[in-house]
Amino acid sequence: GNQIKNAKLVLLGDAGTGKSSLVLRFVKGQFVEFQESTIGAAFFSKTLAVNDETVKFEIWDTAGQERYHSLAPMYYRGAAAAVIVYDITNSATFIRAKKWVQELQAQGNPSTIMALAGNKADLLESRQVSAEATQTYAQENGLFFMETSAKTAINVNDIFYEIGMLWTLV
Ligand code: GDP
Ligand code: MG
Repeated sequence: GNQIKNAKLVLLGDAGTGKSSLVLRFVKGQFVEFQESTIGAAFFSKTLAVNDETVKFEIWDTAGQERYHSLAPMYYRGAAAAVIVYDITNSATFIRAKKWVQELQAQGNPSTIMALAGNKADLLESRQVSAEATQTYAQENGLFFMETSAKTAINVNDIFYEIGMLWTLV
């Protein structure tokens, strides 16, 4: 039907991986080279037509810094979806992403849809994290995985659309 289905979504991951840039790309279709770093968390919303339903994303873009870690459960508890972001050019951010996955598996809601975004996929020449290894890891952990670029827009709408699809099936 034509009902609006609300989907609380949280972005998690190291500072600098491109969480705010992914949101800006998805919500406003824009990209800035010098995105200001997020303090605490920022809120955005955007509706998306998925099949014959309307999904209204209520997006919490978190800061990522360790000093804000204790706030994270406020955002991921009760979330329809969590997008865990790492930077394909920085393997430390992938290690951190796996820690987020573990934390959500242990403390989060089992029904939260989890997506892994390997961002900055436009910077292939600086790649440190292999897509194949990540795909295997994602399958083993029941996440879906896409490499994205907030800069070129590759897979950005797709990852939100995929989440919207899964959410309409819940
Ligand atoms: P956040 O701390 O995770 O929110 O990351 P930001 O969105 O603030 O992005 C950090 C830096 O990475 C900024 O300078 C962005 O312009 C840049 N950035 C974000 N996404 C991409 C991307 O897909 N490709 C490239 N080349 N740079 C990106
Ligand atoms: Mg940010």
